[in-house]
Amino acid sequence: MALIVQKYGGTSVGNPERILNVARRVIATQQEGNQVVVVVSAMSGVTDSLIKLAREVSAHPAEREMDVLLATGEQTTIALTAMAINGLGSKAISLTGAQAGIITDQVHTKAKIAHLTPGQVLSHLEQGNIVIVAGFQGESSDGRITTLGRGGSDLTAIAIAAAIKADVCQIYTDVDGVYTCDPRIVPCAQKLEEISYDEMLEMASSGSKVMQSRSVEFAKKFGVLFEVRSSFNHNPGTIVKEETMNMENVVVRGISVERNQAKVTVANVPDRPGTAAKIFTTLAGTGIIIDMIVQNVSNAGSTDISFTLSKDELPKAQAALAHVVTEIGAQSVSATDGIAKLSVVGIGMRSHSGVAAKLFEALSKGGINIQMISTSEIKTAVILEETRINEAAQLAHTAFGLDAKPA
Ligand code: ADP
Ligand code: ASP
Ligand code: MG
Repeated sequence: MALIVQKYGGTSVGNPERILNVARRVIATQQEGNQVVVVVSAMSGVTDSLIKLAREVSAHPAEREMDVLLATGEQTTIALTAMAINGLGSKAISLTGAQAGIITDQVHTKAKIAHLTPGQVLSHLEQGNIVIVAGFQGESSDGRITTLGRGGSDLTAIAIAAAIKADVCQIYTDVDGVYTCDPRIVPCAQKLEEISYDEMLEMASSGSKVMQSRSVEFAKKFGVLFEVRSSFNHNPGTIVKEETMNMENVVVRGISVERNQAKVTVANVPDRPGTAAKIFTTLAGTGIIIDMIVQNVSNAGSTDISFTLSKDELPKAQAALAHVVTEIGAQSVSATDGIAKLSVVGIGMRSHSGVAAKLFEALSKGGINIQMISTSEIKTAVILEETRINEAAQLAHTAFGLDAKPA
């Protein structure tokens, strides 16, 4: 008998028929002789609709109330899934995040799991139940409802798998696994049999939303091996695990695309210690997450500093920087949106050279201009005009030999 955690995402529970499909799959898993914990997301589109509703009643809804609202999406699905399973003649019980013992910090809308006490999950399993847990939500130590950031049901599943020492953790979604690039962008992308935590983490944090990046970080930290696979068929998926020796032979494992980026340039910043610190401390104080940072060589005692961030954060960043510019004696702040980031990722980059050259050449053949570049040990990323991003992803995909062979 194995202890199995299965997570079903929004599309997989998107309507009553799909919830019944999940119920049948879960029952079949139990009937094979396993104990099953099921983590479910809100039905597809529900979280977005709730956010929209909140904005219709208030321009700046309190984050505490946002969490109370958003948690209802997953709460609907746990009840419906348990009802579906019970209706098909098996035994299921639903638990909210708090009832499942997920205790978080107090950072509303992006809370971190502080600890997990799965007593109720285990006792319901012992009594022969299929246990259905609401993804994406927890409770702070002072009893407030919290949520774990968009895509947070992945984190719920991985954290529960770690806490109950599950034998298997399966993330069921609407694609067959993790692909070399989002198959909706590059149709000839290939499903990967396996990928290392580090590669999955880089891809997830650079736009491949097939997994929430924080959930991958958690899995790496606690050594939770998991599989990403489809809820619509029985094909084997992609195993995400600690890297093995032979993984380094593949130079580029995958390509990610991140849209909705913006670039801010602070022009003619006096070239003296403390100016960059002032700019970025101010931004950090507002909680804005900065991505790439580029500082030009100094020319006549001043320099330009550019950085990228999510387009949604641009107004906040501009407001925060308005005072700083005068304070540090810079000339101006300018901003552009309509840009996107393309990242190529692979642990093989540690031991192979020429990745950047190959990427730049592929883009240049397509006449695509590179606006900014950044590299890390296992990633090379470029900022491009957003309208050309799909084309750029396809060009890079082909250049790195990732295209599926025609059947
Ligand atoms: P769920 O609701 O099941 O959590 P998500 O929408 O969060 O599903 O994630 C699945 C989607 O991720 C896919 O439909 C696909 O478009 C997208 N995606 C982005 N990058 C990749 C990738 N490299 N491999 C597979 N899917 C990807
Ligand atoms: N329902 C939440 C979201 O849409 C969490 C999740 O689906 O994982 O982000
Ligand atoms: Mg998801």
